[in-house]
Amino acid sequence: LSDRLENVFSGLRSKGRLTDADIDATAREIRIALLEADVALPVVKAFIASVKERSKGAEVSKALNPAQQVIKIVNEELVNILGGETRRLQFAKTPPTVILLAGLQGAGKTTLAGKLGKWLKAQGHSPMLVACDLQRPNAVTQLQVVGEQAGVEVYAPEPGNGVGDPVSVALNSIENAKHAMHDVVVVDTAGRTGIDQEMMQQAIGIRDAVQPNEILFVIDAMIGQDAINTAQAFRDGVGFTGVVLSKLDGDARGGAALSVRHVTGQPIMFASTGEKLDDFDVFHPERMASRILGMGDMLTLIEQAQQTFDEDEAQQLADKVASGNKFTLEDFLEQMLAIRRMGSLSSILGMMPGGGQMKEQLASVDERDIDRTAAIIRSMTAEERANPKMINGSRRLRISKGSGVTVAEVNNLVNRFFEARKMMQQMTGGLGLPGMKRRSK
Ligand code: GDP
Ligand code: MG
Repeated sequence: LSDRLENVFSGLRSKGRLTDADIDATAREIRIALLEADVALPVVKAFIASVKERSKGAEVSKALNPAQQVIKIVNEELVNILGGETRRLQFAKTPPTVILLAGLQGAGKTTLAGKLGKWLKAQGHSPMLVACDLQRPNAVTQLQVVGEQAGVEVYAPEPGNGVGDPVSVALNSIENAKHAMHDVVVVDTAGRTGIDQEMMQQAIGIRDAVQPNEILFVIDAMIGQDAINTAQAFRDGVGFTGVVLSKLDGDARGGAALSVRHVTGQPIMFASTGEKLDDFDVFHPERMASRILGMGDMLTLIEQAQQTFDEDEAQQLADKVASGNKFTLEDFLEQMLAIRRMGSLSSILGMMPGGGQMKEQLASVDERDIDRTAAIIRSMTAEERANPKMINGSRRLRISKGSGVTVAEVNNLVNRFFEARKMMQQMTGGLGLPGMKRRSK
């Protein structure tokens, strides 16, 4: 994918205006990225349409090229849809708070019960887990095991009394929790491999009996395209107030998150990232957005490019260059340090305004060269930096001693600076570093 985007970038770079064609070209790539991330097709379509709409109205940025700008909008939109900020659990005014877990078999409900138990306990709550999955023989034992690992009490039907029915187990557990001063009750339920009415009715029965404060729909992130149907079935069946994405430690790109959110509008609250009880966190929309897009590095670079190349700063520099000899060694140094701040030189290529022709030149810049150049410039007086023409032979000698380089190197820098200034004046508004010494191959 990155390769494909690279192509789009080079095609679009430094055109300066967001045209319909630009937007369409980038939108095509985004569409593929979303489909590869297993976002359901109808969701992809709706999403792309809204991004196109927003991109058309967008002001053209000086720091980013059109493709980058579209990607930035896509990312913002994704973060927005995925929740902006995460919602917290709603607690009951009169304890206990009841949290009901729902989802297909194998989604990760029982594991989540243990994780939630441990997490709630760490936050000063006194949770209790309730085994209402009486369908599978081992389900109760499994919950007891995770409860023990979490250091949290588990309420389960007495063995030997027949399986009992989950609704009365749930009801009894709440009475029990009140007596035992548990302020949160997490009810684990049964699931089936596919959506079926019996399972849904059972969950609905438990829901109506215990009136939960939260119903958390647990969904396996690896479920991919099926996420949309499953989420719809649970929305129309037992209903839910929040979503937990599980198995995010796998290689699923997380498109399910977008599909579920789109279909149900309910917030994604937690993320499960492994089999251990600590593999659990509140949901972070920004992380998920970059995972779905599959271009985390790209997004970081866009952010950095924007920060570093603050538009006003860039404009000031451009004005200086255009107005003749006002571009000083101070500016020269600042520019180099700006590049330094952006991290590895090789990765920022083409991220800068007017990138096209600079790309090659920058590719050959040696970072150590920046360090040496900075040292030389720092050994100059303010006057010398502002008016490099005054740097005569004896000054050069002093500067070379101060910065620990040879006079020849000082000469070289001063010459490069004048060369750069001349070139920059020719490329009106260009913000490159045309005078930088190239690394010898
Ligand atoms: P349930 O049927 O919904 O109760 O699902 P379980 O909690 O029994 O989980 C089913 C399987 O998935 C178990 O083997 C869990 O260890 C595993 N599992 C649950 N959550 C995660 C997760 O976040 N990551 C991984 N890798 N495995 C998980
Ligand atoms: Mg289970």
